[in-house]
Amino acid sequence: MTIPGLLILPGDGIGPEVMAEVRKIIDWMGENRGLGFDVSEALVGGAAYDVHGTPLHDDTMAKAQKVDAVLLGAVGGPKYDTLDFSVKPERGLLRLRKEMDLYANLRPAQCFDAVADFSSLKKDIVAGLDLMIVRELTSGVYFGEPRGIHTEGDERVGINTQYYTEGEIARVARSAFELARKRDNRVCSMEKANVMESGILWRDVVQEVHDAEYPDTALSHMYADAGAMQLTRWPKQFDVIVTDNLFGDLLSDLAAMLTGSLGMLPSASLGAPMESGRPKALYEPVHGSAPDIAGQGKANPIACILSFAMALRYSFDQGAEADRLEQAVQAVLADGLRTADLLGQEGITPVSTSDMGDAIITKLPKVGQ
Ligand code: NAD
Repeated sequence: MTIPGLLILPGDGIGPEVMAEVRKIIDWMGENRGLGFDVSEALVGGAAYDVHGTPLHDDTMAKAQKVDAVLLGAVGGPKYDTLDFSVKPERGLLRLRKEMDLYANLRPAQCFDAVADFSSLKKDIVAGLDLMIVRELTSGVYFGEPRGIHTEGDERVGINTQYYTEGEIARVARSAFELARKRDNRVCSMEKANVMESGILWRDVVQEVHDAEYPDTALSHMYADAGAMQLTRWPKQFDVIVTDNLFGDLLSDLAAMLTGSLGMLPSASLGAPMESGRPKALYEPVHGSAPDIAGQGKANPIACILSFAMALRYSFDQGAEADRLEQAVQAVLADGLRTADLLGQEGITPVSTSDMGDAIITKLPKVGQ
C-alpha cells in the first residue's frame, strides 16, 4: 500500500506555531495508530516571499498538485502590507486554490458543549451542533461576466452577473452528497429559485444529480433567506447545506458565529477526484496569521488540529481517527483547559499553544473506543 502524501505549508504569524501541534499529532498517529503519512513541508505566503521573492514557489505548486492533501497554517502580516499586490502573501493561497481548481469550500459549524457559552445564541440551541456548509467557490456572481461600473446617462451603474453552468452546479452537488454519506446523509440545497433563474437551474440540477446518483441521501431545498432564519432559529436541523458562492459566503460566516471563537474553526476546499479517487484538497483553519499574538505561545491550535481531522475524514477515509481527534479536543475543553481566546469571565489561567496540543495528545489514547 502506498503511503499517502501530505504537504504541510505552515505560512506566517501563528501558522508555524499551530502547525507544530499538528505535527505532534501526526507523529502520535504514526506511532500509535499505524497511520503513516509521507509528510513534506514548504514555505508559503510572506515566509516564501522572504526566501524566494514569490509567495508560492513553482516547485511548491507542483508538489501541491501531486500530494493527496495539503494542510496550510495561515498567511500574511503587517511586514508585507506594502508589497505589490502580485506578490502579497495572500496571492500564494489564491494561486493554490485556483490552480488546484478547488470548487467546493467546506466550513463545518461544530459546537463543543464546553465552549457553547461563546456562541451568540442560547446554549441549548448550539450545544452539540455539527453541520457542514458546502459553498461553491469558483463561479457565480463573484466571477460572472459582464461586470464592472459604467455610466448610463448621467449616473454610474454597477453590474455583476450570477452565472452558473449545469456542470459547475453538478460537481459541487456531488461533493455535498459524498460528504453527506460520511455523515448523517442529509443535504439541504439553498438558492433563491423564487426570484432568480440561476436559482431554478441550481434546484433542478441538484435534484437531478440526487435522483440519478445519490437516491439514498435525504435531499431538501430551501430559499437562502429562509435558510438564514432557520440557521439561527434551530441550526441542529441541518446536516450538510450546499449553496452557491454568494449565499455560501454569507451563510458560512453566520454559521461560524454560532460556534464562538475563530481559533476553533477548521475548513477544507475540495476539487475534482484525482486518479486515486481522492479529491484535490486543501485544509486550513479559518483564522488568519494573528500578528497581534504571533510568537507569544498564545494561539489556539484547535482550528488547525480540527482541519487535520477533516483531512483524516475526507481525504484519507479515516473517519474513526477523525472522531478520536475531535473527541480528544472535546475532552480537553471539558476539563476546563483554555487558550487565552477562549477565556470568559471565569478567572481561569490560560494554557499555551503547546500545552493545549500536549493535552489533546494525552487524551487521544483514552477516547474513540
Ligand atoms: P486573524 O484571523 O489573523 O485575527 C483576528 C483576531 O483573532 C486577532 O485578534 C487574533 O489574535 C485572533 N485569532 C485568530 N486566530 C487565533 C487563534 N488561532 N488563537 C487565538 N486567537 C486567534 O485576522 P486579521 O487580524 O484580520 O488578519 C491578520 C493577517 O492574517 C492579515 O495579514 C490577513 O490578511 C491574514 N489573513 C489570512 C488568512 C489565511 O491565511 N487564510 C485569513 C484571514 C486573514
